Amino acid sequence: MQYLSNLIGEYFQLAVDGGYFGYLLFMLPVIILSAIASSAVNSNYKKYAKVMSRRGITGGQIAELILQQNGIYDVRVKPISGNLTDHYHPKEKYIGLSEGVYNSTSVAALGIAAHEAGHAVQHNVGYAPIRFRSAILPIANIASYASWIIILIGLLISPAIAVAGLVLFGFVVLFQLVTLPVEFDASRRALAVLNAGYLDRDEMEGARKVLKAAAMTYVVALLTSLWQMLRLVLLVFGNRRD
Ligand SMILES: [Zn+2]
Repeated sequence: MQYLSNLIGEYFQLAVDGGYFGYLLFMLPVIILSAIASSAVNSNYKKYAKVMSRRGITGGQIAELILQQNGIYDVRVKPISGNLTDHYHPKEKYIGLSEGVYNSTSVAALGIAAHEAGHAVQHNVGYAPIRFRSAILPIANIASYASWIIILIGLLISPAIAVAGLVLFGFVVLFQLVTLPVEFDASRRALAVLNAGYLDRDEMEGARKVLKAAAMTYVVALLTSLWQMLRLVLLVFGNRRD
């Protein structure tokens, strides 16, 4: 037990005075987790992009259908370049679907397209977490880099400034946290629609797996910013064992 607690102590010490290499070592667990999460997304997508659905409906068509079903007529569905670049743009009111999704009838394409349409529905019905997420997005964007600068200045000048920087970084964590219900809910809406007549029971599995893998990347993103927050807390409040 003594050995283990020493090891853990050394690990946290890395975050404080290990320099850049120490920082990388401290972040290693979340770096490994995010590599696992993104390879799970890629392998599930690759696998289920080859499984064509029986009804032959495309990703673009299912997105259009979901918009119509929800009485949303001011959002366009358009093809965009890239791989897994699919997104919903709330300001410019469009759902961008990548080449492998827009024209594809695969169960992966339907899952992803329905998920992005789910975000448009969330906006349309005023789903509280997505409204909160949009509201704090500008602060979180600024905080993601400004907090580090403020903390560094604070460490040189005054602890109060460093704590203010820490609070600012809290918005980055908060943003990642509120992203989880938004993403999980969009997938839940997507699977409900697909299950109601667009995919058969055995086809649902592929769509579910693709969306589950994508959701995991958001969980890992939250863990990463929590880890960074932990390092900043240790930096600001010190981790002196003497
Ligand atoms: Zn999403």
